[in-house]
Amino acid sequence: MKAAVLFGKEDLRIKTVPVPVAGPGEIIVKVGAATTCGTDLKVYRRGYHAKMLKPPIQFGHEMAGVVAELGEGVENFRVGDRVVPINSAPCDKCYFCLRGQPNLCDDLIFNNGAYAEYMRVPARIVAKNTLMLPDAVPFEHASLTEPLACVLHGYEETGTAAGDCMVVIGAGPIGLMFMHVAHLAGVDVIAVVKREDQVETAKRFGARRVVKIQEGKDVIAGVRELTPQQHGADVVIEAVATPMTWQWSVDMVRKGGVVNFFGGPPEKTRVELDTNRIHYNEITLKASFHHTPATTRGALEMIAGGKFNAADCITAHASLTELPEVFHRMLTRSVGVHGPDIKTAIMP
Ligand SMILES: [Zn+2]
Ligand SMILES: [Zn+2]
Repeated sequence: MKAAVLFGKEDLRIKTVPVPVAGPGEIIVKVGAATTCGTDLKVYRRGYHAKMLKPPIQFGHEMAGVVAELGEGVENFRVGDRVVPINSAPCDKCYFCLRGQPNLCDDLIFNNGAYAEYMRVPARIVAKNTLMLPDAVPFEHASLTEPLACVLHGYEETGTAAGDCMVVIGAGPIGLMFMHVAHLAGVDVIAVVKREDQVETAKRFGARRVVKIQEGKDVIAGVRELTPQQHGADVVIEAVATPMTWQWSVDMVRKGGVVNFFGGPPEKTRVELDTNRIHYNEITLKASFHHTPATTRGALEMIAGGKFNAADCITAHASLTELPEVFHRMLTRSVGVHGPDIKTAIMP
C-alpha cells in the first residue's frame, strides 16, 4: 500500500509499505479520509514530536474509515463498520487516570499513520477509544473528532459560561474551532488575527468582532476596548504558541479572568510574564493538553448532530500522493483561491 513516511525535518515521502496485519485485539482500518493538522505541520517542520514520533515514521493522526480486518479477540467491531479510531488511549490505572485526568496519563499510547491506505489500531485504542460512525456522517467530517475533542477539553477547562466575553488569539484550525465552540455556547467571541483574509473566516466561525494585528497599532488596547467596560476579557485562549502571544493573553484578560495557553511552543521556550499583574489581579493561568475519552465522544456527537460546522473546516481535498505538496504549501502558508486553507482532507 501507499503511505506517507516522515524521514526528518521537512522530508516527507510517499512510499510503498506492507499493508499492516492485525495482532490480538487490534483492527486494521481502511482510511476513508485523514485531515491535516497544525500538530502534523509542527512535526513536519521540526522533524519529530516530543511525545508522539521519532523518524522515519508514518504519521497523520486524524482519520475515519472502515474496519477491514479484525485481530484475534476483537468483539466490539465487525469488518465493514464505519469507525473513528482516536489517536490515543489512556491506561485507566495510573495516578493521573485514577484522578480523572486521563489526558495526562503516564502511559498514554499514541497511534499515528493516518496518511496511508490502511492504518493499524492498537488494542487499547480499539477497546477504549474507537468510536462507531453513523452512516450519514462523511469520513472527512468525522476525521475532525480528534482536534475538536482537544478544543472541547480546553474549553471545559476554562469554566466559560454563556454570555462571557472570550478572546481567541490565532485563527488557525484550532483557534477557529475554539471560536465556533464558544459561539455555539452563547459566548461573545473576539478574534485576534494576523492576516486580512482571516477576518472573514473568523467571523464565519462565530467571532462577533475581529482585531487584526497591525504595525504601529496596540493590539492589547484594541482588544480591551471591545471588552465589557474595557476591563479585559473573561477568558483568553492563546492558540498561536509564541512567547509574545502568551504575554498578550495575560494583558488582555480581566481581573479574576482565566487564560488558557492552548498552543504548544517548542521545547525549552521561556516566557516573561508580569507577575505583579497576575497576582494583584487574581488571574488564573492554565494550559490544556490533548483530549479525554469523554471529550472525544462529545466531539463526535457534535459533528454527527450537525451542530458543528465541519464542512467549513475542510477547505481542500487531495490524494495521498499530493501530501508532500500539501505540507509544503501549509509551511509557506500560501492562501488558496477560496481564502485561507484551514484543513485539507486526504482521500487515499
Ligand atoms: Zn490534530
Ligand atoms: Zn493512565
